Amino acid sequence: MNEQSLKDLQQKIGYEYTFDCVQCGYCLPACPTYETMGKETHSPRGRINLVKMAAEDKMDIEELRDPIEKCLGCQACVTACPTNTQYGRILEGAKKVLNDTEKKSVAKKTTEKIVFSKLFPSSSSMDMVGHIMWGYEKTGLQKLARKTKLTNLAPLHLGKFEQVLPSSVSPKERKSRKNYYPAIGKAKFTVAMFTGCIMDSSFFTTNQNMIKLLNYAGANVYIPEEQTCCGALHAHSGEVNQAKELAKLNIEAFEKYNIEYVVNNAGGCGAQLSEYDHLLSEEPEWKAKTHTFVQKSKDISTVLWHLGGLPLLEEKEELVTYQPSCHLTHVQKVTREPKALIETIPGVIFREMKDEQKCCGSAGIYNIVNYDEAMDILDVKMSHMRPTKANTIVTTNPGCLLQMKMGIKREGLEGSVRAMHLVDFLAERLVVNS
Ligand code: SF4
Ligand code: SF4
Repeated sequence: MNEQSLKDLQQKIGYEYTFDCVQCGYCLPACPTYETMGKETHSPRGRINLVKMAAEDKMDIEELRDPIEKCLGCQACVTACPTNTQYGRILEGAKKVLNDTEKKSVAKKTTEKIVFSKLFPSSSSMDMVGHIMWGYEKTGLQKLARKTKLTNLAPLHLGKFEQVLPSSVSPKERKSRKNYYPAIGKAKFTVAMFTGCIMDSSFFTTNQNMIKLLNYAGANVYIPEEQTCCGALHAHSGEVNQAKELAKLNIEAFEKYNIEYVVNNAGGCGAQLSEYDHLLSEEPEWKAKTHTFVQKSKDISTVLWHLGGLPLLEEKEELVTYQPSCHLTHVQKVTREPKALIETIPGVIFREMKDEQKCCGSAGIYNIVNYDEAMDILDVKMSHMRPTKANTIVTTNPGCLLQMKMGIKREGLEGSVRAMHLVDFLAERLVVNS
């Protein structure tokens, strides 16, 4: 490799960050892939070393692919690291380089183009996904597919995920959502809701519940129509330019509103929104408005807590444990508020599970593209969940929620344990008509 190409590679791959790692290994116990795969190359320290070697032209870029693709991107290693090594930046750089050098088939290129450029950024396309799922359920096709085990034929184990998806809502209900919902009683704040593409197509009820919680806690809620996908899946797949375009559309969509917060309910989306300043750091003309957007972007748990919690919650005894989203914990650093909200519910007995801050194996589309590895990680998680004897596992991200539902199914605990998004759990206890 000539000197200029090597310099370009080093700049793209985050070589400068690798020098912060002192090889102490404090991150190793925090890393779920190191725990289940037991290889140095699949640990944070090992991956950093490999990136460094590739950036110094001591090994081929291709040798990075497996260790990097098997990384969950959970960033637990960043929280554990005493020298504050920015592993996230190293991972992001490596993914971009690997994406740029990958020899993709025409079919893969076309699929990625449709998914990244046409499907996720378009609310009407994502609505269509929701409508199709609703039709699939209501026409009896779902029942038939499950009965005849047709779902087992779906590629990438998608049939297994289909079985844990929440019920869909009708197109009529979806269409009847308004753009503004005033606070119940005296308004303390005005906020705007980031709906998310997957949240809004497959977890519409959770989004509706979030509006209800915010209204009851004293917030007026706007839902800007012009918003789009957060771009997390694009950024994590190395499609950084597309992620930047989506970030700009979102910043422009929300800056039109006079609001205190941009509220989201998905740890992964929230982390991406909170990193827009990093994503657009090379575009000075976007600096001021990006900073304002990032400052206002908050997880629902933080906003509810700042609003003083929820006024009235029904009392009912329940054993509860919590599986936090990695991106909420390790990127947004929100750890206290979700648990505090759970613990304030009358009758709830909260039991923390061992290593709760470790990834459950969901990690965006990790559990789809690396199914076996994700199930090994999930099995470890469930072995920590069981001793809590909880009846309810509360989560803060749609991916974690589906993964925990998979875990419950795998363990045969369907009759005794349920998994719920924090928003739905709080909404279930809200005393609405008093
Ligand atoms: S990433 Fe941090 S914790 Fe891990 S080996 Fe390097 S310096 Fe130590
Ligand atoms: S991001 Fe998660 S899976 Fe990847 S190296 Fe760090 S701790 Fe391990």
